[in-house]
Amino acid sequence: MSVPSQMKCLVKETEKEGYDLVTRPVPKAGPGDVIIKIDKVSICGSDINLWKWNDVAKVIATIPFIPGHEATGVVAAAGEGVTELRAGQRVAVENHFYCGSCYLCKEARGDICQRMDQYGHGRGTDQGGCCQFSRVPARFCYALTRDLTPDQAVLLEPMGVAHNAVDSIDVKGEDVLVLGCGPVGLFAVAVARALGARAVYGVDVSPARLELAKQMGATRVINSAKEDIMSTLMSLTDNNGVGRIVEASGAATLLNQSFSWLRKGGQMVLIGIPKGPLHVENVLTDVVFKSLTLKTVHGRRIFHTWQECERLLADGLVDAAPVISHRLPMSQFEHAFHELINGAACKIILDPQN
Ligand SMILES: [Zn+2]
Ligand SMILES: [Zn+2]
Repeated sequence: MSVPSQMKCLVKETEKEGYDLVTRPVPKAGPGDVIIKIDKVSICGSDINLWKWNDVAKVIATIPFIPGHEATGVVAAAGEGVTELRAGQRVAVENHFYCGSCYLCKEARGDICQRMDQYGHGRGTDQGGCCQFSRVPARFCYALTRDLTPDQAVLLEPMGVAHNAVDSIDVKGEDVLVLGCGPVGLFAVAVARALGARAVYGVDVSPARLELAKQMGATRVINSAKEDIMSTLMSLTDNNGVGRIVEASGAATLLNQSFSWLRKGGQMVLIGIPKGPLHVENVLTDVVFKSLTLKTVHGRRIFHTWQECERLLADGLVDAAPVISHRLPMSQFEHAFHELINGAACKIILDPQN
């Protein structure tokens, strides 16, 4: 593959809202790096913070950076010492750039590395996926083994968050409540079904998102703006409460009530980003006496989650298509972010080569 000397990319170089579309030199591969020709980059809900450069962004990102932590493409060049990848290999990027030497990395838990850098966030790298060619250390590349489309491959990252969460609780034969039907919640619905959940209930306030939840395999959807979640769940579960909860809404009010919906001996996993403190009113009856399990996850198990998600997509056990609301050339990035911020979009996939 011939690699040009210049490329288009989005950048944020000062503390202001938005990104600039600029022309920059294509990066060179250092030792251990590959240069990826980016086919697709998708926008995450968390990217809204980085776009706006709000208080959350100042915690999770560092200027300057090329945005986009969900990216896939083809290896265009490999640096010195790279043996596991060669030009032409299709890859997707694991954006948790683990250090490799902290306590957790030594325990093979790079996903929750204590000194984690992050691709697309300016953390330890200025690189991200919103560009035509990106420099990534080879060890953070997941080499695709199945024949996924670029749209499927770019969604391995957000689907992986959902898979990691659902996989951390036992859903086989269980009824599962998914709070929040954004992209990650929608993937949680589909993965829970694929992993053998008996019933999956999707909760959201948006009729459009609840419709998508049905397409992803929800057996029942609950519009929390119209229906009382507690009484609906109790009638669905013979007054036992629901066995498993996946919290993907980030709505503190939902999260704080959700302990009362959980069955005794139930399991809950948190993946949403709550904008308020966790507060449980009746700790004794809703938590202590329930003998429950609370799990949290951050990102994907490297690379177990990737292999599992690739298999689910390639074997047709999960269909990612309903989650994608927009496919746009990267040059329309401003339109893309406005659609995402005003709630008109679900998952937006950008093509940096156009
Ligand atoms: Zn993401
Ligand atoms: Zn580490």
